Amino acid sequence: MKKYLKGDEWNIIEEGFHAEFNKVSESIFSLGNGRFGQRGNFEEYYSGESLQGNYVAGVYYPDKTKVGWWKNGYPEYFAKVLNAVNWIEIDSWIDGERLNLADCKILMFKRILHMREGYLERRVIVELPSGKQVEIHAQRFCSMANNRMGVIQYSITPLNFDGDIEFHLGLDGDVRNADANYEEHFWEEVEQREDDGSQFLTMRTKKTGFEVCVGFYYSAHLDGQQLEGGQQAINRDQYVGYKQKVEVQTNEKLTIYKYVSLISSMDIAKTCLLNESKVNISTMKKRSYVDLLQEHQDAWKKKWNESDLIIKGDVSAQQAIRFNIFHLNQTYTGEDERLNIGPKGFTGEKYGGATHWDTEAYCIPYYLRTAEARVAKNLLLYRYRHLEKAIENGEKLGFSDGAALYPMVTMNGEECHNEWEITFEEIHRNGSVAYAIYNYVTYTGDRRYLADYGIDVLIAIARFWSQRVNWSEEKQAYVILGVTGPNEYENNVNNNWYTNTIAVWCLNFTIDVLREIEVSWNEDYQDVLTRTNFKADKEIDRWKSIIRQMYFPEDKVLGVFLQQDGFLDKEQVLVKDLDPKHRPLNQKWSWDRILRSVFIKQADVLQGLYFFEEKFDLETLRRNFDFYESRTVHESSLSPCVHAVLAAKLNRGEQAYELYLRTARLDLDDYNNDTEDGLHITSMAGSWMSVVEGFAGMRVRNDLLSFSPIVPKQWECYSFMMNFRGIVLQIEISENSVQVSNKSADADLLIGLFDDTYTVRASCKIEIPNKKSGNEEKIAY
Ligand code: BGC
Repeated sequence: MKKYLKGDEWNIIEEGFHAEFNKVSESIFSLGNGRFGQRGNFEEYYSGESLQGNYVAGVYYPDKTKVGWWKNGYPEYFAKVLNAVNWIEIDSWIDGERLNLADCKILMFKRILHMREGYLERRVIVELPSGKQVEIHAQRFCSMANNRMGVIQYSITPLNFDGDIEFHLGLDGDVRNADANYEEHFWEEVEQREDDGSQFLTMRTKKTGFEVCVGFYYSAHLDGQQLEGGQQAINRDQYVGYKQKVEVQTNEKLTIYKYVSLISSMDIAKTCLLNESKVNISTMKKRSYVDLLQEHQDAWKKKWNESDLIIKGDVSAQQAIRFNIFHLNQTYTGEDERLNIGPKGFTGEKYGGATHWDTEAYCIPYYLRTAEARVAKNLLLYRYRHLEKAIENGEKLGFSDGAALYPMVTMNGEECHNEWEITFEEIHRNGSVAYAIYNYVTYTGDRRYLADYGIDVLIAIARFWSQRVNWSEEKQAYVILGVTGPNEYENNVNNNWYTNTIAVWCLNFTIDVLREIEVSWNEDYQDVLTRTNFKADKEIDRWKSIIRQMYFPEDKVLGVFLQQDGFLDKEQVLVKDLDPKHRPLNQKWSWDRILRSVFIKQADVLQGLYFFEEKFDLETLRRNFDFYESRTVHESSLSPCVHAVLAAKLNRGEQAYELYLRTARLDLDDYNNDTEDGLHITSMAGSWMSVVEGFAGMRVRNDLLSFSPIVPKQWECYSFMMNFRGIVLQIEISENSVQVSNKSADADLLIGLFDDTYTVRASCKIEIPNKKSGNEEKIAY
């Protein structure tokens, strides 16, 4: 755990340079705008520890698979989000001496991520080896108002000398992925062009043929006076730029504005890229830095008005939740159904930037509740468009008749992960794709989605489960063998309770949806049967038989569901008895030792209890929670949030609070010692859920939005914005009261608070006493 960043409600602040954590900071200070993003690298050359990263949404490369022992069914490639053109470069030579923070004495250093305004700032005073001192002030942003634009304001002031500064501003296409399997270079140059004081560089990805055109122009100012002329173009292989030498006197400030346009062929035809880039640059030229920053800040203001979550009385918790919301909003904006959310967003290469079950199980709830329905709908459509590929993927593994297995890891619908225990066995992911459809229609009320798109996906998933189970003579029940559950610290187990549960749930839900379509949109029902080639009687009969006779491992004496067959054969030790020196287990123990141990990486049985909570009584939730929480090491970022929601449900405010901090501050405090690889973007949605579904107890049942809040004792009060079926609400919760404001001008809303219902009239607020405060339940173990 690292605690080097300052607490602040709206900003992330590093005071004093922590070179040893620079890669961690680069992840934390990342920027993005849904279309592209970058790590918080320095503009100037830096020879110290650094992972340079610029990423463009949807642009990937199929890196040739690397495995020790090939298994039939493995994909040929592993898709990777690409490190793309580095556009931030502002490199300086001071009287011929290159500015490199790694060589300098750092006299002052402050880096700030302004989350409310959406920009990154750095103030530094350094002494070069020659003894010359300079002050640097840098600000930059990836515009939220125009998602094809990035801007930098960078100034250098000599503090104890007169001399010259030569600066180089570049676009560098000669970049590589640190995680390339064969050290291959994934890009080739298409063209360079200089036009009216602007430089353009177009690069193309090998194999996939994506093109990205980046262009820039700049202006330089000495103490506010714009410098005319003096710029020289630099052109070399895969690099374009300008250089300029300027005479400066002590305390004279040299300021450079670098205006960058970035457009990819995901957005427009390749033949139009250069022209569009020129148009974009001319648009920027008509505006000043201040105008562009203002437009960007206005766009952020709108985002915050829709999604802010305020916590009073606890700076650390407040800073953390805003940090999570900030990164979620800059990673995915929901405008394009071809895009999805990589576990690291635009902040690192790990997990290849590809789509995982994280999107359906964790991210959709956040976007569903803080944005218009189309944002989450686009995430569903992404999977709908990949249905054919999921069916092909099923066929590749031996399934037939339209059975789909969605990939564990994908960019374009094809599986690209190649560890057998995950690719072939972690099949529970299929369930979360179905669950997201349920979540979406339950929350938005857009039930037409089921007939138009959802049912095709559901039938294909149900067919998969129906073929994946087998009948056990011994158990006289259906079983699912050879799987990996969400807890990846167990592989190739039989009857993972969560997998069996979600499989049966999928079958049930699909039957219900078919019935709903038959009754509500009978004219569409025949079309559904035809387009999916559905043999209604035969297939539904089989599904019902599986539903009736599925095997679920449980221990009646302990009163808990068993994570898998034989779970109690393991030595039953608890996390509290683990020597902290052994944590994180995945960095300290051999895989063999992990597999044999009882320790759980992430919510597994509890994931099922979280999804299907209403099917279980409180006692069952409590027994399972106590049993599994005490064995869980939370070494997946996705884990603590689910536990936090359940702990709050059980009225364990203290425990829920600890778990909340763990999920919300996971990256800020580097809990799992891996923030340097990039931020855990997908689990950030879980942090939000911990507050809204956890502490505030938000649920939607039978079209009724309800809350049953508790307040952690560290907080005075908290409040958040939500969008429920087009009505924007603000919920404010304190120890004494719960207030709900309906921001809609004309729509009333019926809501549930604790056990009663209330109508909140348009533009009105209601307030009731908080019934739950002060009833903390004690933990049993
Ligand atoms: C987790 C998976 C998750 C992946 C990407 C892994 O560590 O175990 O559940 O999908 O990370 O976030």
